[in-house]
Amino acid sequence: IADPVAWWAERYPAIPALAEGERVMSYGEADARSTRLAATLAERGLAAGDRFYIVGENGFATALSVLAAAKLGAWAIPINARLSSGEIDAIRDHARPKLALYTDSVSDEATAHGARHGAAPVAELDDLGATLAAFGDADPAVDESGEDPADRVAVMIYTSGTTGKPKGVMLTHRNLLFIGARSGDSRRVTPGDRIYGVLPISHVFGLASVYLGNMYMGGRVDLIPRFSAEHALAAIEGGAISLFNGVPQMYARILELTTIRGRALNPGRIRYLSSGGAPLDLGLKRRVEAAFGVPLHNGYGMTETAPTISVTDIDRPRDDDTVGEIIPDVQVRIVGDDGGALPTDMVGEIQVSGPLVMKGYYKAPGETAAVHDGLWFKTGDLGRLNADGLLYVVGRRKELIIRSGFNVYPPEVEAAITLHPDVGLCAVVGRPARDGNEEVVAFIQPVQGRTPSAADLAAFVADKLSAYKRPGRWEFRDSLPATAAGKILKHKLDG
Ligand code: AMP
Ligand code: MG
Ligand code: MG
Repeated sequence: IADPVAWWAERYPAIPALAEGERVMSYGEADARSTRLAATLAERGLAAGDRFYIVGENGFATALSVLAAAKLGAWAIPINARLSSGEIDAIRDHARPKLALYTDSVSDEATAHGARHGAAPVAELDDLGATLAAFGDADPAVDESGEDPADRVAVMIYTSGTTGKPKGVMLTHRNLLFIGARSGDSRRVTPGDRIYGVLPISHVFGLASVYLGNMYMGGRVDLIPRFSAEHALAAIEGGAISLFNGVPQMYARILELTTIRGRALNPGRIRYLSSGGAPLDLGLKRRVEAAFGVPLHNGYGMTETAPTISVTDIDRPRDDDTVGEIIPDVQVRIVGDDGGALPTDMVGEIQVSGPLVMKGYYKAPGETAAVHDGLWFKTGDLGRLNADGLLYVVGRRKELIIRSGFNVYPPEVEAAITLHPDVGLCAVVGRPARDGNEEVVAFIQPVQGRTPSAADLAAFVADKLSAYKRPGRWEFRDSLPATAAGKILKHKLDG
């Protein structure tokens, strides 16, 4: 995964690759610095098959250390600095890394974690604001010498765990180069592009589709340490940014800000917008497109598929809730409860095959076998393909609610509720009901300063949803538990 950067460095060393605040780094510099950083890490004992922990936010240190690890054949494990110290330790105990890098701007908990493990300054990292620690209790390096170099692990990502226990997803160079190339290509990135890189490199969407995807095509990535609607809006309106990738919640926050400001948004040089990582509600998509005056494209994927399975065609913007066409060289089938492939338009589990599927979950062969039979990877998502090859995701298999024998897909109910102007966030779950059935329960986070009532919302959805899909109970909360990427943690909703 370091090769595309070296390719640009050799031919066009002076073009801009990365930016952090006001500082810009060219491809030549990014390649040379990551080579020097690799040498520093090697001096401290990091070798092929060792795990290398990177605790940080988006910035030069994070971006370069992923490349440096790749140059050594070590496994980079980027960790979101906003995890708690306990969560950072739980991942460390599972991955047993040899070295760790901490960026300076991290949260107090992450900084304390570094201090506890003796993180100290290193000359090569001084101007990048990062420290290094070595762990005495590392597991030995994984021996991958018998494998094709493309099938060795490049990055391991611990999933956000919206469904429970975190798992280490092993992504190979082939997985990430394939998605980097396809993402850059389908989005037509060129060296003139300047990308607002706010999705964390510690998340596969930020790592593969944004960071590696743009480096593959010679674009410039502005590394943004954390999302702020004010900063994003100022960058867009400043006119230098040409591409923006976000999760749906980021778009909702930018719209909220423009509403508060009471002035129309100026899209500057933005060609189009991209969303992924969570269901994109059609109402939100339309409001974003109206505000920006450019299309908002959708993409679907997950950590285990590095991540992109489908994207909407940038030449053919769509006004519905499809997640787009399957990317070239990827196979998708829709499978019924009996394990057989289903015809067009039928809803079943989405299964995937191709160079994007992960190598497996680290130290968890049983869990790997449960989702991958050697040919097909089981996404756990429910969806359908239409006759034009467009994919629609209707929900997660585990979150399906069965009410009086009818299937209720939470995202459909959430989409209807979210159209109400007082609703900020909404999560719909099934709860056991007295009649032995499942009850549809809606958790609502109102827009700040608004107080919608259960009766208001029930009346609002009455003409949008059939009776069996309507929530039987409404729960109001000041804030819903969510991951750093803005995904609601449904297993943490209580009530
Ligand atoms: P993660 O487990 O964090 O890798 O998140 C991946 C999951 O997010 C998928 O399995 C889907 O359930 C959901 N997801 C991602 N992108 C989309 C999308 N564009 N539309 C609907 N659901 C999505
Ligand atoms: Mg997950
Ligand atoms: Mg998942």
